[in-house]
Amino acid sequence: MEKNMLDTAHAIIREAATASGLSAEELDSLLELEAAHEFDIVLSSGKKFKAFRMQHNSKRGPYKGGVRFHPEVDFDEVRALATLMSLKTAAVNLPLGGAKGGVVVNPKDLSHDELEEIARKYVQGLQEFIGPEKDVPAPDVNTNAEIIDWMVDEYGKLTGDNTKASFTGKSLENGGSLGRTAATGRGGYLVLNEVLEDTGKADDEVTIAVQGIGNVGEYFMTTVKKERPNWKVVAISDSTGTLYDMNGLDAELVVAHKKSAGKLATFIQEGVQVLDSDAILSIECDVLAPAALGDVITEENVATVRADYILELANGPVNAKAGEALESREVTVIPDIIANAGGVIVSYLEWQQNMAHESWTEEEVKTKLADYIVPATKDMLQKATSEHISLKQAAFTIAIRRLMEAR
Ligand code: GLU
Repeated sequence: MEKNMLDTAHAIIREAATASGLSAEELDSLLELEAAHEFDIVLSSGKKFKAFRMQHNSKRGPYKGGVRFHPEVDFDEVRALATLMSLKTAAVNLPLGGAKGGVVVNPKDLSHDELEEIARKYVQGLQEFIGPEKDVPAPDVNTNAEIIDWMVDEYGKLTGDNTKASFTGKSLENGGSLGRTAATGRGGYLVLNEVLEDTGKADDEVTIAVQGIGNVGEYFMTTVKKERPNWKVVAISDSTGTLYDMNGLDAELVVAHKKSAGKLATFIQEGVQVLDSDAILSIECDVLAPAALGDVITEENVATVRADYILELANGPVNAKAGEALESREVTVIPDIIANAGGVIVSYLEWQQNMAHESWTEEEVKTKLADYIVPATKDMLQKATSEHISLKQAAFTIAIRRLMEAR
């Protein structure tokens, strides 16, 4: 399938910008990258990998955004993701800009040592363009605290910076923040809760299907279980299969199986059906939460979606055409720039702790996360209702206004 995340991101920005009365020049400047860094990482073994860091907008503060390791990332996708980061930080009102990084690699094909070499060489290639006040990368798809710790270490060695504020998503022992690993999943729960409270459905028996059991899917599922006994995750998938139980899956058992077996398809429990990986998209449920990669709900499969709400925990999971089809069917799409902003919010809290040489309790972090994400969700809901526009348009309009004001 052709990837068109950049087209999707630009389409929604264009729509929201036009509705906000932006001129053609203003729109062009909003879509442009401020800087694009593209280079090769060459390992001591001679293996070569393409690497990117796209810096989209820094008018509101230092660039911020993750680095993904994936065999299919390319210039346009990283550019789209960088653009979404600027809108995301603006939508939740963080004093940060937007950037994204990527390395074209499948980490499963690498040894542990090679992974470390890639992480360190990525930083060597970008050293002069990043830093606590310039651009602060973080984890994303297939990157984690261990990889970020190598990157921080390399940055410290190269520059002498010992604040550790050059990256977020570090391990706790290395300047990370309590609550950072769970933050995107937890934020997704808080956003969904606000939206369902608004429509009077939060106290019903809400059924949820989650695509992907990486960091985001895992913590979303376990947070829902802890916070909302009346909601049920009825299905969850990975690339090997979908687990389905209409009475609700046991989050802890599923997570433990994924960690020990590495895949969901071999999970066995009475009452739990194992379906194809793609079956997740057409599970009958109230909320479908794509929590893996972009461009998964497209014009080709949108007709099979049977949920009333799509919670975009991944970045760009619904393409533009599928978005239009869902809107005409009155399926509510809760946009990525709000739904998955919990990660970057707690990244900002981690950065603040590093800069102030402080370490906050988990409760403090949870409270501050809610203090950013809940009002941002309420603003989006209010704007959508008062202007009769979609949640996506509302969130993007708010974000674009803040970006324009920052000029
Ligand atoms: N990769 C995450 C995102 O897409 C987090 C970025 C960050 O914490 O800087 O929002």
